[in-house]
Amino acid sequence: MASSQPREWTGLQQFPVATQNALHTLLGKLRNEDVKSLTVLVLGKGGVGKSSTVNSLVGERVAVVSAFQSETMRTVLCSRVRAGFTLNIIDTPGLVEGLFVNDHALDTIRRSLLNKTIDVMIYVDRLDGYRVDNLDRQVVRAIARSFGPQIWKVGMVALTHAQLSPPDGISYADFVARRSAALLETIQKEVGFKKGDPEIPVALIENSGRCSTNSGGEKVLPDGTVWLPKLVEHIVDIATSSVPAVPIDKKLIDGPNANKRGKMFVPIIFLLQYLLVIKPMQMLIKYDMHNESENGPPWEKLSKRETEVAEK
Ligand code: GDP
Ligand code: MG
Repeated sequence: MASSQPREWTGLQQFPVATQNALHTLLGKLRNEDVKSLTVLVLGKGGVGKSSTVNSLVGERVAVVSAFQSETMRTVLCSRVRAGFTLNIIDTPGLVEGLFVNDHALDTIRRSLLNKTIDVMIYVDRLDGYRVDNLDRQVVRAIARSFGPQIWKVGMVALTHAQLSPPDGISYADFVARRSAALLETIQKEVGFKKGDPEIPVALIENSGRCSTNSGGEKVLPDGTVWLPKLVEHIVDIATSSVPAVPIDKKLIDGPNANKRGKMFVPIIFLLQYLLVIKPMQMLIKYDMHNESENGPPWEKLSKRETEVAEK
């Protein structure tokens, strides 16, 4: 994994003053809870805006953004420090290859995160998608399979391209509500969320440089919401909730009881081998020996029959 040494979070100063103030308030909340570092993992299909979202969050160009399928399949860890607090944010390659989930990419991501602990997972998709299809369901399941279903308990959904005009006859709020509900329903169903499991928050994002701004120069959505502090608020809420962070350890990567895997089947395999192979062979041999002693060896029988045929 490409990773840089933790650097001072200078990107914070690029934000408009009001955004900076909002972010400082949120960082203060983390300080109060004694949270000194956060590790945020960004996942999703290719081209949905993962790298752009990482750049928007950090306020610097730390991840490569590509309008067309990117060649890079690397996971990138970016660390920024501000007043004793460290933000680690991990950008990842897309999880889909052709029409299928790229399990190899997922495994590579997972291995590159060995010994890290994920505080928050951001699942990125586009707001302007009009349906949740089978591939989305596969991706959601694959994430749960790779990182354990609990990764979704520290998960949130980020919907990019949020500066959109909804189709005629539907308001922006309705469009957002329906798109969010469709995705959340899929995630909860595929991951097997139960009553009492945390709600997955949804953040709206507009990474484009053409995003509208308010009078303070802050980037706003069509409904006037300043989206960056909202996104950070969700991250902080998850990090300070009672849901435990997800460690990426050897056990997760190799699977539970990797050494013991299959060993319980050894006696059963021996027994089956004895009953299905050794025992029938022994019985056949015994049967043959018995026949032989009664009728003589088979070649004698053959030569007797041959003689009979010759005599005829
Ligand atoms: P990734 O493959 O998920 O990392 O996606 P990228 O961040 O590389 O973005 C793919 C393309 O979508 C790039 O051309 C970005 O400029 C564009 N893009 C990403 N997020 C947004 C967004 O919120 N709004 C708009 N209009 N374009 C975006
Ligand atoms: Mg990318």
